[in-house]
Amino acid sequence: MRKITFLVCVASFISFTQFPDTFAADAPSQEIKEARGVWLHLTDFSTNAAQGKLEVRQAVERFAKANFNLIMPWVLSEYVAALTDTNYLSAAPTAAWDALGELVREAHQRGIQVHIWYSFTYYKSPRSPEFNPKHGGNPGWAARSLGDFKAEKNSMTDVCPLHPEARQWELKLIESLLERYPQVSGIHIEEPGFGYPQSCVCELSRSVFKNMHGRELADMIDSPESEDFRCIGTTEFIRQLRGRLQHRKPQPVFSVNGGPHWRGDRRLGRDWKHWAELGWLDYYASQNYSANFGTFSSYTQTNLNDMKSHCPVFVGIGVKWSGGETALPVILRQVEEARKLGAKGVLFFSAKGITEEHLAALKNGPFKTSATFPLLRP
Ligand SMILES: [Zn+2]
Repeated sequence: MRKITFLVCVASFISFTQFPDTFAADAPSQEIKEARGVWLHLTDFSTNAAQGKLEVRQAVERFAKANFNLIMPWVLSEYVAALTDTNYLSAAPTAAWDALGELVREAHQRGIQVHIWYSFTYYKSPRSPEFNPKHGGNPGWAARSLGDFKAEKNSMTDVCPLHPEARQWELKLIESLLERYPQVSGIHIEEPGFGYPQSCVCELSRSVFKNMHGRELADMIDSPESEDFRCIGTTEFIRQLRGRLQHRKPQPVFSVNGGPHWRGDRRLGRDWKHWAELGWLDYYASQNYSANFGTFSSYTQTNLNDMKSHCPVFVGIGVKWSGGETALPVILRQVEEARKLGAKGVLFFSAKGITEEHLAALKNGPFKTSATFPLLRP
């Protein structure tokens, strides 16, 4: 199975390099299979229902016209809670008119896939529903960093996936979204590990680690044993989610994102290279954000060398992110470079930073010809 995927990758690599005019408008007979996606925040839309719905339609239309075929909306647990509990509307105001439902419907009408973008570990707060007993949650599932533990604090920004009930809670939430929005085509997991280093030293983690190694986790938080230990809960969550998605018809596309360097990410429990080797991922999205073309190219080569034989890679291009922004001519070159190196798609971060100028340049340049979403499984 992987061999076939690899051959497809090789074939597409050859077609990109030997026949660059595949992308020209005068060669419509050759169908292009390439993901062209964008990460999008539902908070970009107005909280006013009429205005917000109009903005969703316009956003989907502009991406469709520029030949995009994938939108990944950021969905917090708070958003899901707010669909049924008004106490969460202040945290997720667009849930009042179900911005996600509008987006899924509009995108489906235009043949654009929607992959729900969700984090099972971080972007949480003490008020998050996973810590709220009224929503079946439990404050005891909160992950703790070593710093918090030593200061006897509990900032409750992450969930510790070592807790079996916490995993079940998150899996149920994802399944509830697939039930509610049957036109959703995929689940895309945000950086599948902890949001910061030296985690997690919650009570359960300390207890299990001590039983395994006979030593205190807090005393060896930067050790290889601790790195392996951090990957236990995250791997179990990914394995279970993959298993549940496999039983659905049609089977949703399953992916995770992270940085270009697996060894660094693994220290946060983000063991995506191993999951790809096990055949669990339909694609990996590598966030290769850099305003510098050479750095972007180096990130892309590193990640593709690690991953290309295990699963398709979609390359994330940073339009505007917390670390900077990329000039439009460089963005266009990065798209071509990702293709040339063998990526099966490009994803932009994020919708908010993409102007009409960006869309026109893509439509007149690398996205001139429309593309269908690639077949990721044989
Ligand atoms: Zn823990």
